[in-house]
Amino acid sequence: MTMGMKEHFDSRAFQEAYHCDVPLGAFCGAHGTVFRLWAPTAQAVALRLYRAGTGECLLEQVPLCRGDRGLWTFTADKNLDGLYYDYLVTVDGKTRSTADPYARACGLNGERSMVLNLSRTDPEGWSDDKAPPLPPETVIYEVHVKDFSWDPASGVPDAFRGKFKAFCLGGTTLNGDGKHPTCLDYMKELGVTHIQLMPVFDYGSVDEGGDPAEFNWGYDPVNYNVPEGSYATDPSDGAVRVREMKEAVQALHRNGFRVIMDVVYNHTYRRDSWLWRTVPWYYYRQEPDGTPSDGSGCGSDLASERSMCAKYILDSVLYWAEEYHIDGFRFDLMGLLDVPLMNRIRRELDRRWGGGEKLMLGEPWAAAETAARPGTVLAGKAHLSELDEGVSAFCDDTRDAVKGDLWSEGAAGFVNGGGLDAARLACCVKGWAGCAEGGAKAPSQTVNYLSCHDDWTLWDRLVCTGDPERRFQACPPALLRQNRLAAAINFTCQGHLFLLSGEEFARTKGGIKNTYASPAEINQLDWNRAWANRDLVDYYRGLIALRMRLPGLCDKTPEAGKRVLGVTAPAGNCAAILLDNTGDGPWKRVLLAYSAAGKAVSLPLPRGEWEVLADAASSFAWRKPRVVTDTVPLKPVSALILGQR
Ligand code: CA
Repeated sequence: MTMGMKEHFDSRAFQEAYHCDVPLGAFCGAHGTVFRLWAPTAQAVALRLYRAGTGECLLEQVPLCRGDRGLWTFTADKNLDGLYYDYLVTVDGKTRSTADPYARACGLNGERSMVLNLSRTDPEGWSDDKAPPLPPETVIYEVHVKDFSWDPASGVPDAFRGKFKAFCLGGTTLNGDGKHPTCLDYMKELGVTHIQLMPVFDYGSVDEGGDPAEFNWGYDPVNYNVPEGSYATDPSDGAVRVREMKEAVQALHRNGFRVIMDVVYNHTYRRDSWLWRTVPWYYYRQEPDGTPSDGSGCGSDLASERSMCAKYILDSVLYWAEEYHIDGFRFDLMGLLDVPLMNRIRRELDRRWGGGEKLMLGEPWAAAETAARPGTVLAGKAHLSELDEGVSAFCDDTRDAVKGDLWSEGAAGFVNGGGLDAARLACCVKGWAGCAEGGAKAPSQTVNYLSCHDDWTLWDRLVCTGDPERRFQACPPALLRQNRLAAAINFTCQGHLFLLSGEEFARTKGGIKNTYASPAEINQLDWNRAWANRDLVDYYRGLIALRMRLPGLCDKTPEAGKRVLGVTAPAGNCAAILLDNTGDGPWKRVLLAYSAAGKAVSLPLPRGEWEVLADAASSFAWRKPRVVTDTVPLKPVSALILGQR
């Protein structure tokens, strides 16, 4: 039976008979409320209306009518705004209760959907809300809502700690000392341009009515089109989480940030999801023997190549962009989604909001092989050339080259003693575009990073390779030098730039590799450490500010790689890269020098006068540059950035 259904769902005949391109979900207005559910294999569907999101408060149960193409509808002649609902769906004689896969609001823990007039969730001034202008470079700062303000030292009032509301607060300082900015004001000083929120859709691994200290990263979607309740001040009133997430986006926009959402369309929390209960198996990939495909490591790979699943994902992205003014999307395990869908999302975002206005980036890999319909081209690293130039991928090559292979905690990269040749570093600088190891068509397809929420923080990796006693809290100068060099390389690579929040203050998770279910205290941003390591923060600040003045590195066109004019190796474990920097900035040429050598090296300079823009001591040297000619000393484990007018 199951095997037969798999072929049926994969078939063109099924798509032609049942693809249904109408808005799905519940929509209320002054004249009534309409419910639309796509359930082509159902024999019966009933709607249940409730007064609340939980508990025994059934008001009414009514049957839906089956129409064309598997669409079931019910129209009430009243405005049901504020009522909760779910469905009873009968397939093959078995009746299951399910919330609405297209729910846009829900009650506690997302168990029931909610009819909601969305306009009443708009914060004041929402119709005028606009993203700040596009900066010369994209610098993405990855933040988890709870990490951001859970530390009491954040200065955020207790009621807002770990909530969307914390993003709306200006003026917070370290332990409320009035001197050292935290949270929003801290990020403004840092100069990052895009705030990437780790999952903020409704996920299942935290009990919204439980202990407020419960923690999870949230890569386990329950309601794709509803914000997570544990980040709201009241998770039981479905309107509150919607309003508070909009308030957070509005506050970030007003403070000069664009907002990226981390979206997880590759799997669901459980396979027994609303999608599964509504149309069993349709949204999920299966192996030829009928067992669930497991390319996600969660046993619930979504079948993005099936037309109604593709519609579901596309509708969801467009909904967040439209209703919540989201400026970009980071696709978790993009390598499980298919290339035609990713390109279609790109086209639709460009068509509605203008080319390049909304960012798209993703992980170009999967946890394991997935059982997609034969012939499906997946959006992994091997198929970057088939993806639109406006779909970017995390560059694991540069990440591993700089600090060591991801999978082994003892593995070292260039900065921590692993060695590397100059040609390979030059390839990093090109954002791996046009390099044999990469595959990107242009730096627009590359996201450079050293650390993200996954795996060891950059600091923890440097401690693993540099301190046999693994003192993660300590900050010895030798490791801080490695950190600075790593950052200098990352911020001088072509392509978009990305960092895990706190990387700039030597964030540690005590050497724990994946902290998705570790306590909030391990995951939280340690605001005391952010100020204890202010020198390192300032080094990142200077690199970010300098980057905005280097058009040769910000160039995202397919020709950007040609700006690399020459590559030399002035000594072992050193590389110097000459770059054409013509464009909107004072310096026509830039020389990048990186040294992981244990002693000072004399760097020969091309003819003429060169200005020191950044060196081992400061990344703000460009503000009052000193001039050098002929040769310049390159200190052990450091970077030099020089500019010529
Ligand atoms: Ca939830």
